[in-house]
Amino acid sequence: MSNISPMVSTNLYPQTALPFVESSGQQGRRDRTSIWCRAHEEGARQKRNNDEATKLYSIAGLLNSERALINTRPFRSPHHTVSTAALVGGGSVPRPGEVSLAHHGVLFMDELPEFPRDGLEVLRQPLEDGVVHIARVSASYAFPALFTLVAAMNPCPCGFYGDKFRECTCTPEAVKKYQKRISGPLLDRIDLHIEVPRLSEDELLQMQQGEASEKIRERVCKARKVQENRFTHPLPQTPSHYTEDTPPHPADQAAQKTPSPQANRPVYCNAQMGPAEIRAYCQPDEPVKELLRQAIQNLGLSARAYDRLLKVARTIADLENAEHITTSHVAEAINYRSLDRKYWGG
Ligand SMILES: [Zn+2]
Repeated sequence: MSNISPMVSTNLYPQTALPFVESSGQQGRRDRTSIWCRAHEEGARQKRNNDEATKLYSIAGLLNSERALINTRPFRSPHHTVSTAALVGGGSVPRPGEVSLAHHGVLFMDELPEFPRDGLEVLRQPLEDGVVHIARVSASYAFPALFTLVAAMNPCPCGFYGDKFRECTCTPEAVKKYQKRISGPLLDRIDLHIEVPRLSEDELLQMQQGEASEKIRERVCKARKVQENRFTHPLPQTPSHYTEDTPPHPADQAAQKTPSPQANRPVYCNAQMGPAEIRAYCQPDEPVKELLRQAIQNLGLSARAYDRLLKVARTIADLENAEHITTSHVAEAINYRSLDRKYWGG
């Protein structure tokens, strides 16, 4: 396949949290206690996540004597012929679907537009709320579904739209129809869109060794630590950037209309930030505001997409260990919304 576009939506939420405890003794003792408490908290959180996943697999009847516990983050990759019920959960006696079986893990959807449209639209709720609700006459059920969505798709039915080396044989209508199978609201909930063009023979032959995964992992873990430390402290007061002379943040406006069911959940990473955290930790200065203004105008970003753009920019800043979001962080985050720009925006 060529021109595959991996798309990622981050949406991992632990259900509950232990309070961060800090000793009131001497400095050295306090530091050691803090480290111990954090390690203890992480361990407890991981165990809780595993317990939740094990329960879901048990309800789905997927445990046996060889695999009685789920102790690693799950990775699910359903085929595109999967039914909507099997994808999000359902049945006369409701069972968890693939989104719940990927709880605290990854749901990989290859050939995303080939999935049934109904199933794709139903994904919107768990991507936003981290839970799937199923109503039956006798009862209603809620299955947790906090997963990272990773998806890939071709740009058109033949796979060569926009290809440098081979001509696309699809009609413009067919290309448009194919791409529109991914609706705007679903695309809004996907944080990173990356276009992967086909390599030429020379590029393939001269392929350089990339950065080792271990190195990337180290960097990611470091950024996650920065985020965990950030969210273990109480929220700062409303920053001066958001005073009477600045318009309300779009995320605040959206939150007033539809309060998030995640509002009372603990926050551990940027993907989980609600309007209050975004306001506190993603403060744009004037140059950043100007860039964002242009992005909103040019890409036609919704409040939700704007919100996610800021979170991605915050994460890019964290990877650089930068305290404030700068225009380069926002510009990079805008680059990761290539599908908005190239296909859906036009
Ligand atoms: Zn084509």
